[in-house]
Amino acid sequence: RAKTRGASSIQFFSANDDEAAARRHALERDLASALANDQLWLAFQPFLNLGSDRICGFEALLRWQHPTLGAIPPAEFIPIAEETGLIHGIGHWAAKTACLAAAQWPRDLRVSVNLSAVQLKDKALLDGIAMALAEAGLEPRRLEVEITESVLISDFEGAISLLQSLSFLSITVALDDFGTGFSSLTYLRKLPLSRLKIDRSFVLDMLTDADCAAIVRSLIELAHELRIKVTAEGVETPEQLDYLRRVRCDEAQGYLIGKPIRIDNIHGTAAESFGQQLNT
Ligand code: C2E
Ligand code: MG
Ligand code: MG
Ligand code: MG
Repeated sequence: RAKTRGASSIQFFSANDDEAAARRHALERDLASALANDQLWLAFQPFLNLGSDRICGFEALLRWQHPTLGAIPPAEFIPIAEETGLIHGIGHWAAKTACLAAAQWPRDLRVSVNLSAVQLKDKALLDGIAMALAEAGLEPRRLEVEITESVLISDFEGAISLLQSLSFLSITVALDDFGTGFSSLTYLRKLPLSRLKIDRSFVLDMLTDADCAAIVRSLIELAHELRIKVTAEGVETPEQLDYLRRVRCDEAQGYLIGKPIRIDNIHGTAAESFGQQLNT
């Protein structure tokens, strides 16, 4: 990449810029074959239902183990996958793999899959998801998709119609990272949402900042009035969990409950040990 800038411009780039560009170039090149080379895998992070105190599902989170560069965080490679169009293949693989995994779990556990803005614009997405469900033999009500508002900004009407088609199939829709960005209340009114995920930054500050706590409490009340469930992200301490219970949050997710882990078969392993751990 540095070469294409021309010899005269190279002097203006520091060694760090060159390194970053070289890394980016290598990641772009290698991501194309990462799926075929078995370098991608899904980590699963549990959701705790605060009413029953039981694990009620897992979110699938993409992981890339690069042969020489090590673990590449999704925040770094998902934008690359989006820009190169690789997100379509990778996203389909993630949905299929998540459905196959969940089909092996107890039937009261759901799985959620993150969808990127680029995927939502793809006319083939709906068929792809329906096929993933059918191949896995997973009931559609056990699949949830998580979208962020970035999905909604560019093509709101298009996104609504796709989400409506998904919910028509009984797939539920969660709005991820709510409270960051613009978080228009129009989303809550116009989208077929089953769940709102309150961003980690609110959970982080709610016990030390009274205004933040007020926002969390009011968001939960507002969502409930609209028949939308609420999941709090990034719960790391027992005090945060206690507070969320008190304000009637429906579910919690975070390192306190469980970190994203590799699980091939949750039955008899993770789900039960999480359950025991939390019930004792
Ligand atoms: P997200 O969907 O909001 O996922 C939550 C992120 O917060 C995950 O980071 C998770 O590991 C982290 N996290 C969970 N609990 C805690 C906690 O208690 N404390 C802290 N500090 N962090 C916590 P991760 O796995 O690095 O994923 C980052 C983002 O990448 C995700 O945010 C999601 O937007 C995106 N992503 C991950 N997998 C996929 C995928 O399959 N498709 C798409 N389109 N995006 C994905
Ligand atoms: Mg998510
Ligand atoms: Mg999130
Ligand atoms: Mg978040």
